[in-house]
Order: sequence, then C-alpha cells, then structure tokens
Amino acid sequence: MNNRCGLLFDERYFHHRIDGVSLENPDRIRNLYSEIRNRYEGRYVRLPAREATTAQIEGVHSPFYLDQIRNHAIKPDPYSYDPDTYLMEESFATARLAAGGCLALCDAVMAGDLDVGYGLVRPPGHHAEPGRGMGFCVLNNVGIAAQYLRDFYQLSRILVLDFDVHHGNGTQELFYETGEVLFVSVHERDIFPNTGASSEVGRDAGEGYTINVPTPSHFGDDEYTFLVGKIMQGVVEQYMPQVILVSAGYDGHADDPISATMLSTRWFGTVTTMLKQYAAESCNNRLIFILEGGYNQESLQASVLASLDSLMAPAAGRVGVMHSERASRILRDHPLKKRWNIL
Ligand SMILES: [Zn+2]
Repeated sequence: MNNRCGLLFDERYFHHRIDGVSLENPDRIRNLYSEIRNRYEGRYVRLPAREATTAQIEGVHSPFYLDQIRNHAIKPDPYSYDPDTYLMEESFATARLAAGGCLALCDAVMAGDLDVGYGLVRPPGHHAEPGRGMGFCVLNNVGIAAQYLRDFYQLSRILVLDFDVHHGNGTQELFYETGEVLFVSVHERDIFPNTGASSEVGRDAGEGYTINVPTPSHFGDDEYTFLVGKIMQGVVEQYMPQVILVSAGYDGHADDPISATMLSTRWFGTVTTMLKQYAAESCNNRLIFILEGGYNQESLQASVLASLDSLMAPAAGRVGVMHSERASRILRDHPLKKRWNIL
C-alpha cells in the first residue's frame, strides 16, 4: 500500500524576500509548486501553512531573540542583524508560517491521517540557535516541530536526521542536553558553520544523543549511502524512534554552488527510500521531511522531486548498502560507534 503523503506548501512562503541578490530566495521553490501540482495530482494531501504561536516558538527560542527579529526587520539595512540572514518586514511572519506549517504536518501524522509529510518551506531553519538566527535561518523549523512533539504529544524518542551539507548547529544546540531528541548530522567538514566535529556528542542526559559525521569534500552517493545506512540501521534498532524528522538539505548536490560534496539527484531518492524503510520498521511509517538548503534552483528542484517520487511510491525493498572503504574509515574511529552498535 502506498504511504499517505501530505505536502505543505503555501504561496506566503514567497513573502520573505529581498530586492538584492541572495542565494536564499523565493525562486528556489516557486517552480516546484506548479511542478508538484502537475506531477502528483490526486496523490497527496495539501496542507496550507499556519502560524506557530509565540508559546510554540518559545519552546526553543528566547523571547529576547524574537524581539530582536521584530526590531531588525524594520531597520533600513536588512542585513543589520547578520551578514547572511536578511530580515525584512515580512520575514518574521513568513518564518512563523514555516514553523507552524511543520506543526500542521506533525498533527496530521500523529493523528494517523497521513504517514509521511513534506514541508516545502522557507526560510530554512537548522542553523537557528535558541538566541540567534544565522545562515539564512530565522526560526528553527525542525527544532520547533521536535519540541512540539515532546510537549504536546509527550513523545520521548524523536530522531532527527540532518543530511544538509552544512552542520545543523542550531538543532544540535537545542537538544544537546536531552536524550528525548536524537540528532544525527552528516555534513561536509570545514565549511560553514564550522561546528559538528564527531567529538560533539551531547552533554549530561544528552550525552550520546548527538551523532556528528563530518565528511571530507568530494564524497558522493556511495559514501553517503554507506554512512546514512550504517548509522541509521544501528540507531533505529537501538533507539526505536516514535517519529523520524528529516532536515532535508539539497546543497550537497554536485551542482550546488556552496559545497564540494558530489551527491547526484538520484541519491536524494535513494536516501528517502532508506528512511521510509526505517520509519516502517520503527515508528509506523511516521516520517516528516522539512526543506533546509539547496541553492542551485535546477538541482534543488530535481532533487526534491526525487525525494517526493520516493515518498509517494509504493513501499520498496531495502536499499542495498555497498561497502565504501573511504566512508568506513570515518566510522571506524567514531566515539559513538559502540554506543549505537554502528557496525
Ligand atoms: Zn546547507
């Protein structure tokens, strides 16, 4: 049986924009909306955005930071807050709609109305820390969703996989001291934001619940499939998540301008199929993707469609994980290898 798939998209996500040039702009996702309508007609449930409430946002962000966003959004220089992250009058409202839309996906999946959901949102979120936005990210969408699942649904085993090519420093910081959210990030090392060493493993009750896998540049499909496959297999079996959230960034694509990682369009379908399988084995198919980065419009759109093709396809067999010597060297010395039985 096909998974019941929900897609979150809303024209109001185009409102966060700037007149000058920015890699993070509405055109990243604008064409995807019409493509999705044509390609998948009748095969998904459309969810519109809704605003996250202040209380929901303050589940992870400080009131001081929210005041800062409001104030900076009306200053003449939209980059007065951060050199990458522009803030315009509509920015905070758009970010609230992005975060709130992700909560709508959570509600639909938790109610059992949908199995899988995909949030085609912007601005992205995984760099946003409790008290600071950065790297194009205003509110931490995946973090607000994970905290909502803890608070409202009392979930205590939430697995977040972040395959954006950059380290999800914000999400890591939000849940660094808890085991109720297990954060896994596979990312290219020595690029923005220069965090995410394998020695960063969590603290106190969260020790062991942050798994960072920094990769050398030029890793591609084989290495990433091996890494995600090995880690997720161990983690899913040991942790038995109640839901899997995915920070789905597409900037590790070979054609993306801001990384040297060499993933193909097809890989984003492969990883999606793997994650569907893990969700089927552990958490009754509950799987929610949230868009993060991806800055070459063509490769971003093709790769998101590869993910959606996989999400909407009938359940497939397990993806074969071929041995990769280069990738296995990274796991051999990983400090959490034994903890999570990563073989
Ligand atoms: Zn990124």
